Amino acid sequence: MALLEEPIKEVVTLKNFIGGEWVESKGEIKDVVNPATGKTIARVPISTKDEIDAAVEAAKEAFPDWRRTPPVARARYLFRLKELLEENFEEISRIQTQEHGKTIDESRGETRRGIENVEVACGIPTLMQGYFSEDIASGMDEWVIPTPLGVFGIIGPFNFPFMIPLWSAPYALATGNCVVVKPSSEVPNSQARLAELADEAGLPPGVWNVVHGGRTVVNGMLDHPDIVGITFVGSTPTAKDVIYPRCGATGKRVIAQGGAKNFMVIMPDCNVQRTILAMMTSFFGNAGQRCLSGANLAIIGKDDEFYNSFVNGVVDAARRMKIGYGLDESVQMGPVRDKEKKERIIGYIESGIKEGASLRLDGRKSINIAGDYPETCFLGPTIFDNVTPDMKIARDEIFGPVMSVLRMKDLDEAIETINRCPFANGHAIFTSSGKDAREFQYRIVSGNVGINVGIVAPMAFFPFSGMKDSFFGVLHTQGQEAVRFFTESKVVIQRWL
Ligand code: NAD
Repeated sequence: MALLEEPIKEVVTLKNFIGGEWVESKGEIKDVVNPATGKTIARVPISTKDEIDAAVEAAKEAFPDWRRTPPVARARYLFRLKELLEENFEEISRIQTQEHGKTIDESRGETRRGIENVEVACGIPTLMQGYFSEDIASGMDEWVIPTPLGVFGIIGPFNFPFMIPLWSAPYALATGNCVVVKPSSEVPNSQARLAELADEAGLPPGVWNVVHGGRTVVNGMLDHPDIVGITFVGSTPTAKDVIYPRCGATGKRVIAQGGAKNFMVIMPDCNVQRTILAMMTSFFGNAGQRCLSGANLAIIGKDDEFYNSFVNGVVDAARRMKIGYGLDESVQMGPVRDKEKKERIIGYIESGIKEGASLRLDGRKSINIAGDYPETCFLGPTIFDNVTPDMKIARDEIFGPVMSVLRMKDLDEAIETINRCPFANGHAIFTSSGKDAREFQYRIVSGNVGINVGIVAPMAFFPFSGMKDSFFGVLHTQGQEAVRFFTESKVVIQRWL
């Protein structure tokens, strides 16, 4: 299969987008490397404290006029942005594959999900309405006005470079706030392209800013008195130990979405063929680098024949997956993002072997890459059988294409085991029993719950939830909850007699 054309052809040093201008950074410069080809595709600045301060200042300056812009007029900018995103849909998707390594189909899905958030935010004139009561007491009326707050910081992870900032930014803007986005410095290109399109959509200078970099930029946001709130998506240690407490200490609103360890529960009455297919995308899609990826496969019941045939089925299907560069449309799994991540995942494979799990498919060895690419970041699907809940591979977030198969006697045992897991992001059950499905969704502690769905990703008009160590905050990104997060209720009481 021929490769699709790469959109990034020339290596340039990315600039920050501050106050409507593309500004060169004075920070250190890092290479951005395509994990499939090993080639440098861009250089990204690790911006300085002065640069984040300048972006916050620009956003603060833009806020009063933006806030006064009627919601219908703000929505018009988003309609224009949506059109531009559609026009550039394929280019944006290919950039994600080139910078991240995911397959082109996965990138197209990511672009679509990002655009859907822009579409939902276009409904802001009704989403943001307040409410009114007359005669709350003699001669008095009372009403609530949802008001914007000012400047928000949006911090993204490496695994969905384009979509995740769009879980927040369109709602922040639609409600009348201004934003400073900090993309992951590992994958900064699709956010740079998005900012170009926001600029082309005519957004006033300072409403949408992008500052590339790492901890200095994040710390600059967390400490800045003019940033009123932060949305963060990334690992649990950063969410729990850095973002959430520091926002609390400085009085900022916060949504901090963390890591995961999702269980896929397989009941003997599931539709086996469809479930096996769903497991391939759940565990190995995006090379397992998804906060909603399956990590532990729990097969229920004492039926050895069912257990063995299901495990053999997933091993056979995983062995047949085509691995390679995601710009080849026939490839089903790309590389992991970088060499360090691959080594970390291999460390987990070694720990699984040491702890006595049976290695049924070894992704370190069975790498059959379609095409002539360095093996540096490639890893095949890996499957462990005979895993117990106390093993490290069953407890930690591995964030790679590794499946741990556990066996449990009944649904009760599965629910109890899952509810002991510190992560609660996207657990799912596969069954044809309405009763078991209901029991599972009722008792399971999980922000997102799947019933015969392997990637429990909420649509843009639903909140992107999470519980326990997978989420820190109250309201969530996406949809109505994002509108509430980005507004404060101003309550007005009028005596008119
Ligand atoms: P990460 O926590 O390493 O980085 C996320 C962001 O925080 C990056 O922009 C990074 O520059 C910054 N950062 C990292 N460490 C920091 C520190 N000590 N101080 C200040 N800033 C810091 O996460 P990642 O590796 O980019 O992303 C993968 C993680 O994200 C996984 O754990 C995955 O489960 C999680 N994730 C969660 C969701 C969700 O919705 N819950 C969605 C996608 C990814």
